[in-house]
This record gives sequence, C-alpha cells and structure tokens, in this order.
Amino acid sequence: MSEAVKVVVRCRPFNSREKENASDRCITIDQETNQVIMREVDGNPMRNFAYDAVYDSESRQTDVYEQTAKPIVNSCFDGYNGTVFCYGQTGAGKTFTMEGKEEPKELRGIVYNTFYHIFDNIAQQPEGVQTMVTVSFLEIYNEELRDLIGPKGQKLELKESKEKGLHVKGLSQVCIQEANKIDSLLQTGKKNRTVGATLMNAESSRSHSIFMISIETSETNTATGEKMFRVGKLNLVDLAGSERADKTGATGDRLQEGCKINMSLSALGNVISALVEGKGKHVPYRNSKLTRLLQDSLGGNTKTVMVANISPADFNYDETYSTLRYASRAK
Ligand code: ADP
Ligand code: MG
Repeated sequence: MSEAVKVVVRCRPFNSREKENASDRCITIDQETNQVIMREVDGNPMRNFAYDAVYDSESRQTDVYEQTAKPIVNSCFDGYNGTVFCYGQTGAGKTFTMEGKEEPKELRGIVYNTFYHIFDNIAQQPEGVQTMVTVSFLEIYNEELRDLIGPKGQKLELKESKEKGLHVKGLSQVCIQEANKIDSLLQTGKKNRTVGATLMNAESSRSHSIFMISIETSETNTATGEKMFRVGKLNLVDLAGSERADKTGATGDRLQEGCKINMSLSALGNVISALVEGKGKHVPYRNSKLTRLLQDSLGGNTKTVMVANISPADFNYDETYSTLRYASRAK
C-alpha cells in the first residue's frame, strides 16, 4: 500500500427504514484483521475486503478523526497538503462522518474536530510562531464550481496563473480565529447547497462539497530574527452519493446529474489508483473538475484518506458491494 493514500471503511448503524423493513445484516466488520465481510445474499457469494482500518456501527466520531484526519491536520502545520474524502451511497453516513454536529461533542465529525484540533495546536505554539487559518467552502454540481459562502449562486472558474498557480477565481476566503466560528459558516454553506430530492433520500445531495482550509504559519527564529513561512492546505470533501443513476428512479435533469456524478467519481477513482500504483504512472487529473481542483493536494508529498461509508443492510447489498470495490481499488 502507498503510504500517501489510506483507505478506511465505516459501517453505520441500521436506520429506522431498515428496521421497519426487517432488513438483515449482510456486513461484518472485523477489527482484528481490518476486513469487511459480506455474507452470501440471494446467490451472491460471500466476499471479503481488507483496508487500512475498519469501523463498525459502534465506532465513535473521535476514533475516526484520530486515525484519519488528525495526522493530516498535523502535517498541514508543517506545510504539507492533504485531502479527506467521504465516499458512499446516499444515506450511508458521509455527512455524519464529515460534519456530524457540533454539540454534543460526541457527534462532532471531521470538520468540527479538525477546527478544535487546529486551535488547540495554535494555543500550544511557542512564542514567535503565528498561524493564520482561512477557509473556503464550495460545491461542484454538474461539473460547475459554486461558492457556498460568497455571493449566492455565483459560478466560479478554475484558473491557472504564474503567481497563484491553480486557483478558483473569486472564491471567498474567510479568516477563522476560533473553532466555534466554524458552525455558522458551515450552516450558511449548507443552506446554499444544491439539493435534489431523489427516491433514495429526500435530502440527498447531488453535489460534491469541499471545505478548503489553509493553514499559514510564520515562524521567527529568535536568535537570527529570520522569518520562515509555510502553508499547508487541507480539503475535506463530502462526495455526492455514489448510487447508480438508474436505481434512484432519476429522469431528465436528475439523470443528467447522475451521469456527471458517476463520471467525476470514476475520474477520482482513476486518479487515486494511479497514485497508489505510483512510479511515474500518468495521473489523469484533468478528467474532472474535482480532480483538477484538488490536484496539488492529491499525490506528491500530500496525504489522502478515503473514508468509504456503507450501510449494514442486505437491502443495500449491490451499492455496498460497489462502494467496497471502489474503495479497494483505491488501496
Ligand atoms: P449521507 O451523507 O451519506 O447521505 P448521512 O450522513 O446523512 O448520509 O447519514 C444518514 C443518516 O444516518 C443520518 O440520519 C445520520 O445521522 C445517520 N448516521 C450515519 N452514520 C451514522 C453513525 N455512524 N452513527 C449514527 N448515525 C449515523
Ligand atoms: Mg450527505
């Protein structure tokens, strides 16, 4: 396995619909061997997959944070970039894992825990070290970029320039000075998201949402007075639902969205598997907006974690199988 890419799987608890339907469990999580085992369902054979870590329905938000995003946040302070993705079908627990809720504390997902951790780190810095934290929040919907905390509905373009490198022109950047300021920003962004009702889940999100955090540290050498400067970027990405467009009963616009989503998820899968194979393999960043946008935070000296979220129910066998396969290809 490539050191730079880590893949973990998290299985959520049964939801009320699955309980009502008396759905059977088809997933076993084996924390000893880091395996996910699918039992035989309707003639489909038993299958098992191994990952870097696996989390069952009882897993705590902090466990997931400590072992996935936390090391990346720390390396951002040293000037490295990193990305965390949540992948999976709608309703599998991506947003719960990525965001959760600020209170009670136990429900804090990766975004909240990241900010509490960042400001804990800052509070412990020695004199002469200063850190500035800025945040952008955007979505990619139908291969278009939209600012979620700037002027509403504004479409944005990816640009490349000598001074700025690859950047999103006009994207809002907000300076954050306390961890508890992130909640209102997150809520504003969520209100501006493009949401479509599909049969799978009334709140299903058909867009990728991306929290881009930049951690800029300047350090003055007390002996020489010399100033050092470093920047690390962290992207926290809640991907669009990975379900196949035809299963959701989508037609027209919804079907069109579904095709673009599947295209960009497969482009991401191709980039990650090229990175994992490594050694001069061509990495096809340019095949989707998502991979182009994240190009400088995927591969090279960066760290990437893919969290694959799954349901435990046999009802979701096909989607779960497809998620597990996607995730194991990224390994
Ligand atoms: P997605 O973003 O993948 O569509 P959500 O994160 O919205 O899915 O999860 C669907 C529902 O399941 C939500 O009500 C969420 O609170 C709940 N849920 C998901 N994962 C967990 C978990 N690990 N523990 C408890 N509840 C969960
Ligand atoms: Mg969601």
